[in-house]
Amino acid sequence: MEKTLEKEHRSRVWRLKAAVMLAAGLVVCVVVWLFWNMSLEKPSAGLRVLVEQEGRVVYEGLLQDESGKPVHVDGQIHMKGSAGEYIVEFQDGKVRMLLSHCPDKICMNEGWTETPSRPVICLPQKIIISVEYVGNGYIQLNGPDLDAVVK
Ligand SMILES: [Zn+2]
Repeated sequence: MEKTLEKEHRSRVWRLKAAVMLAAGLVVCVVVWLFWNMSLEKPSAGLRVLVEQEGRVVYEGLLQDESGKPVHVDGQIHMKGSAGEYIVEFQDGKVRMLLSHCPDKICMNEGWTETPSRPVICLPQKIIISVEYVGNGYIQLNGPDLDAVVK
């Protein structure tokens, strides 16, 4: 009699444990999903642009605010790449490679971007112009350096 009670108790504890673990797993899933959603789909402070050259960030600036309004100064920045000067242009919260002396000009043909999934890449010069969502705690690291922006 006692043995059956103990068995029943144990199975009840086990069921409780399983339920708690399931609930915890569910909570973890929801939290991960929320973070994923916040970081990838709902910009909280807007979009920023990053220009990376040979793995180094050479320019960074806020492109659009949280409502998608353009906040970057319209104009161009003139930079020095391995194939010579290249020009990155900003207009209406969008960015493009205006001029590059690379042999294939694929980067120039990419045109304007304002989409995180569509970076402008110059393979010969190892330049990546990318756009990404930024969180509320966004602090600008590198610019925009207004001296480098030529209207
Ligand atoms: Zn190129």
